[in-house]
Amino acid sequence: MILPVAVIGAGPFGLSTAAHLRGRGIPVRIFGSPMVSWRDHMPAGMLLKSTPVASTIDAPQPGHTLLDFCADTGGQRYESDWDLIPVEDFARYGQWFAESLFPDLEQVRVVSVDRVKCAFELKLDSGETFKARAVVVATGLSGLARMPRELAAAVPEGPSATGPVSHASQHHDLSVFAGREVVVVGAGQSALENAVLMAEAGAKVRIVARTPGAVAFGDAPDRQPKWAPESPFGRAWSLYALSYHATHVRHLPAPARHYLVRRVLGPLGAWWLRERFTNGGVHVTDGRRVVRARVEDGRPVLTLGGRSGGPRYELAADHVMAATGYRMDVAALDFLGHELRTALVTTKGAPVLDAGYGSSVPGLYFTGLPASSSFGPLMRFVCGTEYASPRLAAAVAGLS
Ligand SMILES: Cc1cc2nc3c(=O)[nH]c(=O)nc-3n(C[C@H](O)[C@H](O)[C@H](O)COP(=O)(O)OP(=O)(O)OC[C@H]3O[C@@H](n4cnc5c(N)ncnc54)[C@H](O)[C@@H]3O)c2cc1C
Repeated sequence: MILPVAVIGAGPFGLSTAAHLRGRGIPVRIFGSPMVSWRDHMPAGMLLKSTPVASTIDAPQPGHTLLDFCADTGGQRYESDWDLIPVEDFARYGQWFAESLFPDLEQVRVVSVDRVKCAFELKLDSGETFKARAVVVATGLSGLARMPRELAAAVPEGPSATGPVSHASQHHDLSVFAGREVVVVGAGQSALENAVLMAEAGAKVRIVARTPGAVAFGDAPDRQPKWAPESPFGRAWSLYALSYHATHVRHLPAPARHYLVRRVLGPLGAWWLRERFTNGGVHVTDGRRVVRARVEDGRPVLTLGGRSGGPRYELAADHVMAATGYRMDVAALDFLGHELRTALVTTKGAPVLDAGYGSSVPGLYFTGLPASSSFGPLMRFVCGTEYASPRLAAAVAGLS
């Protein structure tokens, strides 16, 4: 009997990888809650920062692009760089993709993966145990929310949407903040868009950012340099190289790779958010970092300091939201057995991958965010599926 390949994750990367594996006639079982990050862990009313051309989940067969979805469902056509995609529509697209290609998708959690001889043994929360010849980890952002130490210390019971301190990933309905004072820590797109959505819902919002002048917005499509080559992220030589030659990132020294992942396509608001940010009256405290945080009478109180010392002062609010992103850490993938986790060669918590997305454990593959340390920032975005999925599927097909 040929053992299947197990794909853990039913977000854009898991769905796309499974489509490419099936396209090669490889038996696949795919697990997860389709598009759950987009349905439950992003704010209602959010617009995608990526343009339509960069928001297709890649499949080997025609008929599954974002535009195909628009045509099939009769909804708005997302086509030009000026068309903004609501997160609700993108989540629907992913579900449509999943339903049309994977009617057998299994909406269960994988609770453990262990190596047994030349295969893997997986346990599901349905109670089933089975063997797979290879495993693809495509669990995306799940469990990787990054919380600054100082904020985490204020809430020993952990951050929560209803408590004094939360992470942005814990919210979906921001209208609950109407009439409340909220501090958002961070200055990336997620911080800025959460701040705007809360302000528009009637909250009083302040952004706190470490870097002076951190709140900045990108250029509209017609303001981008015409002489630079096009990429899914806009026109620039660096973006072109990172989009179409991502495999070369693997050969860069580790500090350069980590810099690229952190900084390229890093904290910058979308061009269309600038006006709403200003109109929303969001306050900004920049050049200040959270030195300490505590909860007093149920309210969070932050102690802010300058970047290099200087006077400190306190800032209280009804709620603090950390929009401080995600950090890959293999240790957080608790479904991977201890033996597997210790056998993985990692760099800064991320698995080191070969050109086919294989890790140091033969038969164990990673795609999406966990692959960004090896392949660069492209892997943090949906358009990275076009690069990753065919390569990963080809590598799995080459397994004896
Ligand atoms: C606020 C915000 C806005 C963003 N906007 C954009 C954008 O505009 N454009 C863009 O390209 N990218 C955007 N991103 C990045 C985007 O979220 C990721 O690129 C994308 O979701 C990664 O897809 P994925 O398939 O790797 O993981 P996810 O979409 O996170 O999916 C993870 C999957 O893994 C499953 N899973 C997890 N653990 C298990 C388990 N143990 N067993 C079974 N299944 C499991 C989940 O059920 C889920 O199906 C944004 C991210 C955030 C946070």
